[in-house]
Amino acid sequence: MTAPAKPADRLADILDRWEPVIGIEVHCQLRTASKMFCACSTAYDGAAPNTHVCPVCLGLPGSLPVINRQAVEHVLLAGLAIGAEIPPATRWDRKNYFYPDLPKGYQISQYDLPLASRGTLTFGTSAGLFTVGITRAHLEEDTAKLVHATGPDGSKVSLVDFNRSGAPLMEIVTDPDVRTAEQARRYAEELQLLLRSIGASDADMERGQMRVEANVSLRPHGSETFGTRVEIKNMNSFRSVERAIAHEIERQGAALDAGQALVQETRGWNEDRGETYRMRIKETSDDYRYFPEPDLPPLHLDPAWLDRLREALPELPAARRERYQSTLGLPAADATVLVGDSDATRLFEATVAADAGLDPKQVANWVTGEYLRLRHEASDPIEVVPAELAALIRLVVDGSISRTNAKEVLELHVASGDPTRSIVAARGFQQISDTGALGAAVDEVIAANPAAVADYKAGKVEVVGFFVGQVMKATRGQANAAVVQAAVRERLDAEG
Ligand SMILES: [Zn+2]
Repeated sequence: MTAPAKPADRLADILDRWEPVIGIEVHCQLRTASKMFCACSTAYDGAAPNTHVCPVCLGLPGSLPVINRQAVEHVLLAGLAIGAEIPPATRWDRKNYFYPDLPKGYQISQYDLPLASRGTLTFGTSAGLFTVGITRAHLEEDTAKLVHATGPDGSKVSLVDFNRSGAPLMEIVTDPDVRTAEQARRYAEELQLLLRSIGASDADMERGQMRVEANVSLRPHGSETFGTRVEIKNMNSFRSVERAIAHEIERQGAALDAGQALVQETRGWNEDRGETYRMRIKETSDDYRYFPEPDLPPLHLDPAWLDRLREALPELPAARRERYQSTLGLPAADATVLVGDSDATRLFEATVAADAGLDPKQVANWVTGEYLRLRHEASDPIEVVPAELAALIRLVVDGSISRTNAKEVLELHVASGDPTRSIVAARGFQQISDTGALGAAVDEVIAANPAAVADYKAGKVEVVGFFVGQVMKATRGQANAAVVQAAVRERLDAEG
């Protein structure tokens, strides 16, 4: 009897025979003050149900939609950022279906003329850079939210909260280019970074501002036709995106290996059980009977408007990573960590700007190391004044204070907001580099440890470290370690 294969082995075994074909669909809430087609505020997070509503977003007869310019600009900016084609004009379409969260009986969306099409997004993976084609990005309105609850008499009730109804959504669909679960996760992470960097969306997955769905199918290697496609929903974190897709590849592979036919269906992801489960079977493709929205005029996209938006594009994450490496000489790993975190990016840039003489690598080490560690350990947001961090790094580089003490100074700065130089002075952290003062401490330590001196003479040179440690202790960490080490060696050799 053979032992059951480990999950990683099972997946590798399936990938030997089958090629996964994955497409990703992302819906993200755009950062606007008002909804897509009315003046209702989008700040409804935590608000009482049905308090951010009006005749337009309640779908009352006779109400007319008005296009939100900011929402259109966010999608255009996203399109420009992924190098997509923007059509000279677009229009809105009605996507007709019935559901209690859709009061009008249709959703205003875009069908055959999306605001952006044929773009790409490139990102790093463990196997190197990978580029995904982006089929389209379009604008639409969000639905209301169903709340399933228990009524006062104990019966099950479903309630509708229309606060989210009509909020602006961007849908971004990739080509079926993705081949691994890791590529899918990395795509979603890079897209989030991009949307945040252009200010289009906060794209927080946990808060439902970015919803990721994946279409997964398998086919034999070398085949050009697509296998039966399964749609996965309810992936609420980047980690679940990767886990759910890996699980689905394995599930489909096992079924195909066993000669079973797959069913075209929508499956949900159960995070606790680590499994996908059937939500509904799709026997036919949905027919939404799209037709042009009669209440809205076509939208002409003036080239001068696009030029202004193009000029307004900030430095994008990929370009920033590239600049950190080529111009500032940072390793790829540092560039990735810094650019992946907007607070770290800001602190790094401002600290480098505060002291142009500092080595950017030194600054990167402090930001990716100590700063991120302190922030991770803190329960509240922390603040480091860039000029104060620059001054502190300068003291370390000059040998004025030890690295260990500098870490403590940074912690005290975060806690108090005091200037780092004042903390160094108040704590007496100035490093002792003066050979005369250190010489006395070295002499004392050598005199107090004759056995270790004998060890050194017998050829155990590693006891130098012991002496250095003793001197550091005696000077409360203020001694310049390099100066102490030189002095220890000199004294020991002279003992001869
Ligand atoms: Zn409204």
